Amino acid sequence: MSISKRLLGLAFASADLLLEIDPAGKIVFALGCSPTAGAAADALVGNSLFDRVGKVSAAVIRTVLSDLAPGTRSTAIEVLFLSDKGKVRRATSRLFVMPDLAPNVSISVTWEGPPYPLHDPEARPALTPAAFLDRARSVLTTPGASKDLAVAFVDVLGLEAAKGLGEAGERLRWRVEAALQAASIDGASAGKLGPERFTLLRNRSTEMDLEGEMRELGLSEGLDLGIRSSEVLLDPAADPLHTLRALRFALEGCLKTGALEEPERTFTAALARTLKEASAFRTMVRQRSFELNYQPIVNLKSGDVHHFEALSRFSGTRGPAETIHMAEELALIDAFDVAVAEKALARLRRPGAASLTFAVNVSGASLADDRYVEAVLRMTAGNPEDRQRLIVEVTESAALADVEAASRRLGALRAAGIRVCIDDFGAGSACYDYLRGLSVDTVKIDGQFVDGLDSDPKARTLITHLVELCASLQVDTIAERIETRAVADLLRDLKVDFGQGWLFGKPESEPRLESQPIKPARRVGAVVGWS
Ligand code: C2E
Ligand code: MG
Ligand code: MG
Repeated sequence: MSISKRLLGLAFASADLLLEIDPAGKIVFALGCSPTAGAAADALVGNSLFDRVGKVSAAVIRTVLSDLAPGTRSTAIEVLFLSDKGKVRRATSRLFVMPDLAPNVSISVTWEGPPYPLHDPEARPALTPAAFLDRARSVLTTPGASKDLAVAFVDVLGLEAAKGLGEAGERLRWRVEAALQAASIDGASAGKLGPERFTLLRNRSTEMDLEGEMRELGLSEGLDLGIRSSEVLLDPAADPLHTLRALRFALEGCLKTGALEEPERTFTAALARTLKEASAFRTMVRQRSFELNYQPIVNLKSGDVHHFEALSRFSGTRGPAETIHMAEELALIDAFDVAVAEKALARLRRPGAASLTFAVNVSGASLADDRYVEAVLRMTAGNPEDRQRLIVEVTESAALADVEAASRRLGALRAAGIRVCIDDFGAGSACYDYLRGLSVDTVKIDGQFVDGLDSDPKARTLITHLVELCASLQVDTIAERIETRAVADLLRDLKVDFGQGWLFGKPESEPRLESQPIKPARRVGAVVGWS
């Protein structure tokens, strides 16, 4: 067959390299770009293809070859080619038989990135769950990438015991990790979940004998490893971002509770539950089928109710904090936060509510773009009084990725007359950055500094300094989770402006203007200003 026809084959396959092997697997023709950057492709001629690829790849190629008929083309398979100096290069390949060349087989090779050193632990992608999820993100969100994916769990029993073998044990661990990594979809999406447990994202259509390879690796170091593996298939029709979020949420949940004893069952269950809950949450937001409860915030000096915090209540088993956390993790929170603001505004507009002011919570995640702020401004456009009766509490549960942009967005709310509060101050690590970077009216001191304040001198000192700092910035302070009179008195003496907690009233389905203990019989309708 002429070279021009083969060139045509290369162009047809729109590949980087075209190989031709004889029935024994010997490379008899090579055209294009070699696995070793800068080297001539024909240097491959005369080698066995199986010596030029990784073990798993060799096994996959053998399987594909065994049922490849003339005139047909295989599906895309992933092949790890060996490059020079211990490097490897990942490729997508297809095998096909050109009638003129039968029984030889042609192989198109498209490189997926440059060669990388497999034996350099620094260069090898880390095997952490975070790295796994990171890679999963890029795989799932790359347009055109295969969505026919599975999450595999592999237990390599005996790996811990192999530590006792010294260098051989270390080598074995290293080789096992490298092989798992190489078997993962882009050579970098394996993660280590425990000393002997791994997970990897793999292409469902790629056949491989991972268990066999792991066992072989063990035997090569004189060890009989016990291998257990299982797979969870991902829905190729699902929105990849939803899948990814659910994957992360389910995996993190399993890792946190240590419930990965039978990973295929626990993880599958967690993933299915997460996907179901996400869908139910979306429906709930769409139908606005959640409730707001209202908890009073009082002026600590006078005992007057200043405003109410609107707290969401959901049907189902998860509590509000857990539901909100899930919604943040699954990127469902921004639509929800808008729905909360809408519900609170509707309540504020009901007859007889003119004296009420509500604080609504907004997750930091909802300030990552303009949508939330734009929606709130739109909802209150033409109603300056509504804006004055609305406070937005930025919860720290989801960290603000870009404080400057968030500050700009909050600034737009404040410019429109809507007050802004930083919630849970002190609970996160970035609180002082937020205080410096965000323009706010109020800081709400996290309940952990308030609990048992009367017996905690350190918390007292902290609050004293925070109050001073806020005073100098002309920012008001609220203390949350006040349960006893002693703590309320102490906070008032420390010059904290406002208080919230069961002492003054629990969250209730209707805002109750009379707060309990400080002024037991408040006049209904009495609401005071900020100072
Ligand atoms: P948060 O904004 O810090 O709300 C205060 C939490 O403390 C509420 O929990 C409230 O019920 C509870 N609490 C109030 N007083 C006391 C007290 O004296 N003692 C104790 N032990 N707890 C008290 P809840 O309602 O479970 O809400 C938990 C978190 O969920 C909220 O914390 C907030 O971060 C989030 N959340 C609630 N509703 C929404 C919402 O509509 N949107 C967003 N983004 N987050 C919300
Ligand atoms: Mg709050
Ligand atoms: Mg709070």
